[in-house]
Amino acid sequence: MDLKSNEPFWLIKNGIIESYPSLKSNEECDVLIIGGGITGSLITQQMIKDGYKTILIDKREVCNGSTSATTSMLQYEIDVPLYELIEKIGEKGAVESYKACSDAIDTLEMLSKLIRSDAGFKRKKSLYFASKKKDVKWLKEEYKARKKAGFNVKWLEAEQIVDQFGFENTYGGILSKQGASIDAFKFAHELFTHNVKKGLKIFDKTEMKKVEYHKGFNLVTVDSGHQIKTKKIIYCIGYESKNLIKEDFVDLKSTFAVVSEIDDDKFKNISSTLVWNTDEPYIYMRTTDDGRLLIGGGDEDFNDAQKRDALLDKKEKEILKNLKKIKPDYQFYKDFVWAGTFGETKDGLPYIGEHKKFKNSYFVLGFGGNGITFSVTGMEMTSQFMKNKKHLLSEYFKFGR
Ligand SMILES: Cc1cc2nc3c(=O)[nH]c(=O)nc-3n(C[C@H](O)[C@H](O)[C@H](O)COP(=O)(O)OP(=O)(O)OC[C@H]3O[C@@H](n4cnc5c(N)ncnc54)[C@H](O)[C@@H]3O)c2cc1C
Repeated sequence: MDLKSNEPFWLIKNGIIESYPSLKSNEECDVLIIGGGITGSLITQQMIKDGYKTILIDKREVCNGSTSATTSMLQYEIDVPLYELIEKIGEKGAVESYKACSDAIDTLEMLSKLIRSDAGFKRKKSLYFASKKKDVKWLKEEYKARKKAGFNVKWLEAEQIVDQFGFENTYGGILSKQGASIDAFKFAHELFTHNVKKGLKIFDKTEMKKVEYHKGFNLVTVDSGHQIKTKKIIYCIGYESKNLIKEDFVDLKSTFAVVSEIDDDKFKNISSTLVWNTDEPYIYMRTTDDGRLLIGGGDEDFNDAQKRDALLDKKEKEILKNLKKIKPDYQFYKDFVWAGTFGETKDGLPYIGEHKKFKNSYFVLGFGGNGITFSVTGMEMTSQFMKNKKHLLSEYFKFGR
């Protein structure tokens, strides 16, 4: 699957941070993690911490999947609004899912400090504004649901949004205290480097081709023909899980992002805030560590890479036109524009847990706009699963729900 177009910003900005060997002999471990993106890096961190002999493989260079294309906004807010999620899955599951994403931001901050990360983790507020008058009614309902659930939120009227952020043509919105941004590509690399020092083995350009299930262990054959004997597999293969799991569990779509030239001064009003709106598809933006404005949006309901990449010019114009509506005075000078695949589930929630067709295995598949925070929740969940314990969110994140 072609997960991204040619010029994702993070890959160009960081280049090849670290390269690992491919698998050239047979190996044995407690846990084999398949997939070396941000999800694999976080799960690795947990498994090494829990004391398991851990191997990670990736068929690409590590972090060259969706993790190189992400906009890396860290939000407690899920694509499905809380009041709507409550209607879909009940109050307990909905509130706990939101809380898990909120806790994930704190965990990422703690991890950034622990590994002395240089990936620019920065705490930010989050502004979710109504782009149409008719959206105000449900957005206020959303505000009440979040307040009731204990989240630190404020309602801002349109004039207050103009005063604080200089955004015009909004109809009010929710300002949340909890949020952050990071360079997920760099952070995942840093986590790998940290854990290799603690015994993790990584083999990239190594593709899982076949799994044989035995009592108490799995035998995984990779493209070179070598085998890894492992007690458990944790699949962190992102959107390519759609090739492995035959049932219809996620819709794959295309999304687009544009990043500006460096201009700290121009973007200082929103350098401490993540911004998104109620449009469908919504646009979202954040600043980067090096003083650029990064905007995403323009989602399309298909996943054909050629068709997707042919739209790059058109989508750039569409995204910048939407920016002009709220920031008519911004002169936006583009540096990079790119496209990527992303997955949407019917309830905005991830799939984390077992699948009956894959024995001795777990999946950690963060989908939707919260892929990264869901993967953090996957750390705690897989840690519990490995100890044969249930997790509070298993019921809400399971296959076949
Ligand atoms: C433009 C864009 C913007 C986004 N914005 C945000 C955002 O603001 N916030 C957010 O939280 N999320 C966002 N997302 C989603 C987020 O990027 C993803 O959730 C996240 O990157 C997924 O990471 P991953 O490690 O699960 O997948 P990947 O990074 O794709 O890693 C999976 C890895 O598995 C490997 N693999 C697959 N099959 C095999 C196999 N058979 N053998 C060996 N290896 C295999 C692949 O090579 C790949 O490297 C965005 C996504 C896009 C595209």
